[in-house]
Amino acid sequence: MRDWLTHRARATPDATAIVSADDDETWSYEALDRAVEEAAGRLCALGIQQTDTVALLLPTTVTAVGLFHAGMRLGLTIVPLSNRLTPRELADRIERSDSALVVCSAETEQVAVEAAGETPVATVDEPQWEGVASIPETEPAEIEPYEWERSDPQLLLSTSGTTGKPKLVTLTMGNLLASAVASGFKLGIDPADRWLVTLSLAHMGGIAPLFRSTLYGTTVVLRSEFEAGRTADDIDRHGVTIVSLVPTMLLSMLDSRGTLSDSLRVVLLGGAPASTALIDRCRNYSVPVFPTYGMTETASQIATARQSEAFERPDTVGRPLLWTDVTIVDSDDEPVSPGEQGEIIVGGPTVTPGYYQDQERTSEAFCEYGLRTGDIGYEDDDGYLYILNRVDDRINTGGENVDPGEVVEVLLSHPTITDAAVVGIPDETWNERVAALVCRSDESVSADDIDAFCRERLAGFKLPRFLTFTDEIPRTVSGTIDRSTVREQLLSFAKSIREAH
Ligand code: ATP
Ligand code: MG
Repeated sequence: MRDWLTHRARATPDATAIVSADDDETWSYEALDRAVEEAAGRLCALGIQQTDTVALLLPTTVTAVGLFHAGMRLGLTIVPLSNRLTPRELADRIERSDSALVVCSAETEQVAVEAAGETPVATVDEPQWEGVASIPETEPAEIEPYEWERSDPQLLLSTSGTTGKPKLVTLTMGNLLASAVASGFKLGIDPADRWLVTLSLAHMGGIAPLFRSTLYGTTVVLRSEFEAGRTADDIDRHGVTIVSLVPTMLLSMLDSRGTLSDSLRVVLLGGAPASTALIDRCRNYSVPVFPTYGMTETASQIATARQSEAFERPDTVGRPLLWTDVTIVDSDDEPVSPGEQGEIIVGGPTVTPGYYQDQERTSEAFCEYGLRTGDIGYEDDDGYLYILNRVDDRINTGGENVDPGEVVEVLLSHPTITDAAVVGIPDETWNERVAALVCRSDESVSADDIDAFCRERLAGFKLPRFLTFTDEIPRTVSGTIDRSTVREQLLSFAKSIREAH
């Protein structure tokens, strides 16, 4: 199989491939194909060869999209880097991935050069390519399109680092293809679809629509930066039918607009747990929400609930995608019955072959039934999946297990609490104690008020023993709570309380 754009440009050359909402430019598949051919030629002229690894440090723009396609045309492995990372973190990814080149834009050039070390850097500022560091300015070279095998690595992606040092996940052509096809069956494909991409292209949620849309022959609407009101306008103005969002984004859009354009047929909502209150709000305002559960290691979606399913069962993430096997196992890795909790194991063609050059973490991650997600959940009798929390997040206090998700849910049901994170912090007597970091919309609400509220709704051992306020819950790029920072903040709060007593 050649790169998907080659096939697409032949099939529907005049169809719109990309609308850039930043500058209102439109690219047909034929025009994109030509630009990609040129970009691929320039990469070759820089000495890049088939199966090389190339890192991209670019904002969500047409240039970046073109380079993803150029990578597929040439048989490269692409390492998308987030521009939210520090030079030190970037250097780590560039080195660990064995990248032969770092491609950046004028805005990211300084950081890229600092992070790249010995690795050559090229700045691409359409339509010119300028070599930085060791690369002279180039003319495009003749290229030879790559013939892909399903097992060829196509992407090296960092996980979000919620549970520790981010892992570098290998995703193959087969993983991407299976994910694109299975997702198409789940969401349906309408040739008139317009998929708004405003998530970072360093994560699967941002990358997946780029390739999928090329396979489906639909349109991608690009916006380099998310801003709640403007993104809602983009949806209106460009007749967007699908958008992928993390819950914090959807919340801020609903806060700013009340509801969203009725051109939407799918709001794919994932990356982090969505509260039932948010799903209820979507129901009340007819927002077509599709809660989804996925991870980097599975090239995004594992399970997705369609709108009707979500409105019927507001806390489910739906049923697994076609070909994806979900098994829930107990602590002895034995499958459990429907309704029983355990770790979620995923198998099937979207699952990564492993972490790049990390045999140890790879073998730890797999068991008989597939990949350990590190997430706790259960399936109901009808095969719907529910996510509870992460294996590492369970709080053990005085011998009792507390699910932080349950405490968060109660906190969020308080009328003035807008966001919350709950973690366990070490305690000599109790092993761990429940601690909560909370955002409130009304400053006059005190920790005691919230305690009284929780006491009516939670057993004593589940009550937050330490509770403090903040303006914003620290989160990773994908919207999951940055637990180590939350824990640090709560630890120092608990310390100050303990010292005061
Ligand atoms: P790391 O693996 O480095 O600790 P991470 O797991 O957060 O980071 P990602 O691959 O970006 O990195 O995120 C996948 C995880 O996000 C899932 O394992 C799950 O914990 C969480 N997640 C994704 N979607 C949902 C959802 N709908 N509900 C609850 N959790 C979700
Ligand atoms: Mg993970």
